Amino acid sequence: MAGFRSLARQVRDPRNDLALRRYSLRKCLERFAPYGHRATWDHLCSRAGFGPEDRSPDPARLVAALDELEEARSVWLAYEDGFARRRKKEKHDGLRSPGSVDDWHRLTWGGFGVAWCDDPRVHPHGPLAEVLRRLIDALEREPGAVCPVCTGERLVWKYDLAHEPSSGPVCTACGIVVPRPVLTPEALADCRRGRLLLAVAG
Ligand SMILES: [Zn+2]
Repeated sequence: MAGFRSLARQVRDPRNDLALRRYSLRKCLERFAPYGHRATWDHLCSRAGFGPEDRSPDPARLVAALDELEEARSVWLAYEDGFARRRKKEKHDGLRSPGSVDDWHRLTWGGFGVAWCDDPRVHPHGPLAEVLRRLIDALEREPGAVCPVCTGERLVWKYDLAHEPSSGPVCTACGIVVPRPVLTPEALADCRRGRLLLAVAG
């Protein structure tokens, strides 16, 4: 199975035909897709200015989409690297690590679905790297009660998500499943009970 970097080379190589270059970019999303495969594809296409179904997009736009994805990937991998090093040191020092953060990382290692968007057409609009930086900031500070990407306050608990965990708090503004470690236990419990929605409605 080809790795992300060799797929990225296929996308950039002007000697390849356009269908292969487009296909290789889609394959990159099987390795790294913060919103999930379909939502990340939708995002990259709209930012780079070609349609998700466009079979022969302008090669320059295809490469622009890859540039955005690669920048985001380097932001995320640098974070994971630091996270792994911290955990190793904590283990060495005999410190127990908080379970929920580790559980979440196990499900998203490598950056797939870190900000899962269950509806592929509803996802944050800003540059992917910026979205991930906000997410990382939130993971590295004390938990809060709002969406780490758009600071939206209306989080609703959704079930039957197409990605693990299969239920969780979804931001009604930008569409991401908010990673549980960035929310306080109270915020999570309120969201589960639908209290935030009632508070807004009342
Ligand atoms: Zn949001």
